Amino acid sequence: MADETTTIDEHGQHRDRRGEWRPDKPVRFMPLFDWPTTPKVLARWFFGVPGFLVPWFGLYLAITVIAYLFFTPDMSRMQNLQLGWALEILLRNVVMVGAFTGGLHLWLYRWRKQGRRAKYNGNWPAERDKRFLFNNQVHDNVFWSMVGVIVWSLFEVGLWWGYANNALPFSSLAQNPVWFVAWLLLMPFWRNFHFYWIHRLIHWSPLYRSVHYLHHKNVNVGPWSGMAMHPVEHVLYFSCMAIHLVVPSHPLHMMFNGVTTALGPAVSHSGFDELVFGDETAVKKEKLMHYLHHRFHTVNFGESAVPLDKWFGSFHDGSPEADAKFKAARVKG
Ligand SMILES: [Zn+2]
Ligand SMILES: [Zn+2]
Repeated sequence: MADETTTIDEHGQHRDRRGEWRPDKPVRFMPLFDWPTTPKVLARWFFGVPGFLVPWFGLYLAITVIAYLFFTPDMSRMQNLQLGWALEILLRNVVMVGAFTGGLHLWLYRWRKQGRRAKYNGNWPAERDKRFLFNNQVHDNVFWSMVGVIVWSLFEVGLWWGYANNALPFSSLAQNPVWFVAWLLLMPFWRNFHFYWIHRLIHWSPLYRSVHYLHHKNVNVGPWSGMAMHPVEHVLYFSCMAIHLVVPSHPLHMMFNGVTTALGPAVSHSGFDELVFGDETAVKKEKLMHYLHHRFHTVNFGESAVPLDKWFGSFHDGSPEADAKFKAARVKG
């Protein structure tokens, strides 16, 4: 913050008196809704590196395709609800989240491979913290995340059972290639839109106090905090998959929806603005938006694909001006 005393940390980053660091650029929404825009800006946003497709969309899609081709039970077995194939799906999902979220955690927090470079919060989470299960934030977060994997897997098992019995609206690449690709590209927007509304719902104080408080115990967030939710929140959160009950989809769409919903929070809660490999390679994550939600609670209910926060006045872009605006609103409120 410009008007406060800042210190320079070991990476040359300015930190305010609370130790917070903010990137130079404010939070931006995807330029699709950021009018006026130009075809050049849109093309750069879509195809650029980093951009809409690379790396995160592409990575989640690659993981989905591998899981679909090599780690999904045969469709003929899924016509009957049986524990065997349901457990195979659960196990695959546990391994997926364990490797992805666990990998990010090891890299950033256990091994501290990039130190505090691009870390929003200047402090490392406390080892012992009585507010969390097992008196430990990470153990608490892993436990609740795994409950989330069970909920995700139940949604997936139910939907697979529907596909195996031809009971769901279906569309394949061969039948309708345009829709197949379009639906994959629309998925992040659908997920953002759905998340915004369920997130506003659970900030309604009775639900906040009984359900969403659990997620908000995490202020100094880490990758495992993303899916550390109350089971009721898990059900609401993964209910974005229920759209496949009405929208013609291929099982790959359903799996892609689930995979991004399960892995995305690890990235958006990692607490870092970018991942740094070696001296050179930095992968932008730009997840300041949701970090600020954990800092201030009443801002940024959504994510950056759909600018609902902007339209409803709850958008905090990370700038000192926005800090001042919301501070003034809190004093008044
Ligand atoms: Zn969160
Ligand atoms: Zn919240």
